[in-house]
Amino acid sequence: MDFRRSTRRSLIKPILNDLSVAYPHELQLYSSPPNFEVSFAEVEQCTVERMSVLQTIDEINAKGLKGEEWRKTIVEELKKQGLRGFCKLVTSTSSGDDETDLLLRKRDHISHYILRLAYCTTEDKRRWFISREVDLFRLRWIYLTTNSRATFLKLNNLNYETVGDIEKEELIKLSNGMITMAGDYFKVPFPLVSELVRVRKVFLHLGTAYINSEDIISVITSSFRSNLAHYLAFASRRIHNLCEDSRILAIVNGTGKVQREIDYSAFINKEKIDIRNLDALSELSYPLCMKQLHDRLRSEHHLRHSARQQYGLFLKGIGVTLEDALKFWRLEFTKKMDAEKFEKSYAYNIRHNYGKEGKRANYAPQSCMKIINGSVGPGEYHGCPFKHCDPSTLKKTLERRNLSSIATQEIVDLAKKGHYQLACSTYFQRVHNVDNVVINHPNVYFDESQMILANKGIKKEIKNEPDTKIKTKDQKQENVWEDDMEIDFSSIQDN
Ligand code: SF4
Repeated sequence: MDFRRSTRRSLIKPILNDLSVAYPHELQLYSSPPNFEVSFAEVEQCTVERMSVLQTIDEINAKGLKGEEWRKTIVEELKKQGLRGFCKLVTSTSSGDDETDLLLRKRDHISHYILRLAYCTTEDKRRWFISREVDLFRLRWIYLTTNSRATFLKLNNLNYETVGDIEKEELIKLSNGMITMAGDYFKVPFPLVSELVRVRKVFLHLGTAYINSEDIISVITSSFRSNLAHYLAFASRRIHNLCEDSRILAIVNGTGKVQREIDYSAFINKEKIDIRNLDALSELSYPLCMKQLHDRLRSEHHLRHSARQQYGLFLKGIGVTLEDALKFWRLEFTKKMDAEKFEKSYAYNIRHNYGKEGKRANYAPQSCMKIINGSVGPGEYHGCPFKHCDPSTLKKTLERRNLSSIATQEIVDLAKKGHYQLACSTYFQRVHNVDNVVINHPNVYFDESQMILANKGIKKEIKNEPDTKIKTKDQKQENVWEDDMEIDFSSIQDN
């Protein structure tokens, strides 16, 4: 791929003819890498979108949904997230050959290859990526018509022999009911049907496997899976040659974090965060979703349950210990209530998040997907501002963050189009004055930000020990957060 900074439109027009040759079908096996000019913005956007698709599938799988319910729930989720392009691809409504369809196929191709690079580096990542890509392929196959499936097989030289009526009559006698006159069957080499053999859905005779035409997807995905595994193993050894472009390397690094693999709950070796730094950290390194919760907590001294969950688990993920978390929430809440009420009504839940109560699960911080897909009622402040704030409120919020009017408009436009994570990634890039960081988790946002600030030499120095004494309702609570640190902002002032 040749990555250019020029606009998408200027590059697309001249290659439309090539695209119709490159993408004769809406479904592809990605047998060869993309080989055309493409704008970097397009690469970034379609990669984030594909990540969202794969993560959605992962989340739906985790709910244990199957069959029709699985298929419908995924499509509904993709619609909710505004992933209209992928929705068209998945539901096979991009089957024409007009410009929009061809561009969707191109984005499908590019994003698949970028994620190959992002997920090739460890065995866990490879396994996760292959499984989700196979799921996606299978989902898309379900939506294809019989004719479209036949065209796909032909275009990909998967010319499996069909079983004619005379042969079928012979097989009916031998197959003990596995072959029927009404069914359509393919003859397939035996090594390709191990999955079907395991579930006894294949009739074997003289070294040939006879499979129902509906089951041909197992054969295709089996070969898709092994080709993909082979490529990823190869890519893992050559990743540095493959990612020579630093912008692509940044995307690859940003997206190559498997959602379920990020274990922010196990921060035993992670650097502990001092709660006295939270005000400053919220200015510097919090994503907007957490910044608004922190600000609301500090001004109202209270958050409702969903907001406490979202923010509390985030704090746990950045390295706030259970003891400090109790101290932090207690200090705020007891500005409005007495300590006894806090202990009785709120402390349990904090300990629960850290696996010290109830079923003692070690809960992980919420991902963007979970936050974006959650519902937010009136008077609630959790959720994702890019999704749950109306455009004018979002605009005002961004303006308060001193973003330029161009950057603000760019981000608001992305959010309006439903590209919430892309809007957040763009926000991150503009705030930190960097390119190509992709945000798919609030804690990724925090970690990436801290890394950038550390490289810029931003220092945190604590002057005083915090006052952690609990006051009764009648006693005035000292503001332990103010004036207790020095942070050198100078190196990020030019943002
Ligand atoms: S995209 Fe994710 S990190 Fe960014 S504001 Fe929304 S939920 Fe938070």
